[in-house]
Amino acid sequence: MLRTTLRAGLCISAGAFLAAGVTADDISARAKKLHFSTIVVDTHDDTTQRFLDGKFDLGPRNPRGSIDIPRMREGNLSAIFFSIWMPSKVTGAEAVDHALVQIDAVREQVRKHSNDLALATTAAEIREARKQGKIAALMGVEGGHMINSDLGVLRSFAALGVRYMTLTHSGNDEWADSSTDKAVHNGLTDFGKDVVREMNRLGVMVDISHVSDKTFYDALEVSKAPLFASHSSCRAICDAPRNMTDQMMKDLAAKGGVIQINYHVGFLSQEFRDAEKANPELNKAIAAEVMKRCGENEGCQLIEGDRITREYVEQGKLPRVESAKIIEHVEHAVKVAGIDHVGLGSDFDGANMPYGMEDASKLPRITEALLQKGYSEGDVKKVLGENTLRVMTEVERVSREMNGSK
Ligand SMILES: [Zn+2]
Repeated sequence: MLRTTLRAGLCISAGAFLAAGVTADDISARAKKLHFSTIVVDTHDDTTQRFLDGKFDLGPRNPRGSIDIPRMREGNLSAIFFSIWMPSKVTGAEAVDHALVQIDAVREQVRKHSNDLALATTAAEIREARKQGKIAALMGVEGGHMINSDLGVLRSFAALGVRYMTLTHSGNDEWADSSTDKAVHNGLTDFGKDVVREMNRLGVMVDISHVSDKTFYDALEVSKAPLFASHSSCRAICDAPRNMTDQMMKDLAAKGGVIQINYHVGFLSQEFRDAEKANPELNKAIAAEVMKRCGENEGCQLIEGDRITREYVEQGKLPRVESAKIIEHVEHAVKVAGIDHVGLGSDFDGANMPYGMEDASKLPRITEALLQKGYSEGDVKKVLGENTLRVMTEVERVSREMNGSK
């Protein structure tokens, strides 16, 4: 989830990266076979907001947005983390209540579609859902403000199935600094460090997307389990404060963590970012149009923000970003952090998607592009999901150890 407007894209030019003697069709068939035999994990989707007004259902194919069961099936999205999100300005008991409403909404969607979806809380449960031909549904809380500075609330969220918490969203919370706010805590407060320890004990992944660099390093020092960035991209390619520097990625990897590349155009493309910055009136106009179409309905705002931004791109007011940019970030992260430390966290239904990656049905293109770049099938599987599953397994092991069981 982000709260600005943007857009991007993945254009796979067949042939450009082919080894001698290999045809595009060969790769296409191979990509298809590989993609559909692999567990594909997406660690950040904002579709939850759409559940809240009662008008959206995951069951039928939907002409708007990026996620529904038919399109997840088409793209072989095997495990999806539904984000529990609200702006940082919502705090206190109101934030807790609203998070509970969203957790219930996700669980209800899973119950309603139990032939297609299975609630999962562990790597093993994701694999089991796959065996049963179901899509694993998981939950992540995007912003520490939702626990209202209360470890009891954190424990309750965990008991309801939440398996990661992003330490902040775009504003600071009471105990951690965000990358897009003025630092007031110098990273994590003492209580913030207690939150990280309790997350370790509970087996809730510590998500460092959105946090300030200092918060990241504090969490890295305190956490007994690997950290993960549920939806972040590379700052070396696109200078957004919530993207990770090369050094941060190396340090994350050294402790076993994983960065999940975000598809949002404003985090992928410097050109797009610069264009937005150069013309702030555009964003204001997009925001005004969003309000006109949606009022206060957050789910509608996110979907329409993406659509209106795309209209601006079509009119030549903003640059067109192709989905090849996702691959560029994956490759950079692999080069810097290593093949065992990169995965995918789309930000579908909460951000502006690049051309070629409009929805979950387009995911096989990532597999195809990586094969074209010369990645081995084993390495592609790691990026698509196995790296995330490994981190989850390690987080679960640390939790068992802290609880005194094997
Ligand atoms: Zn976000």
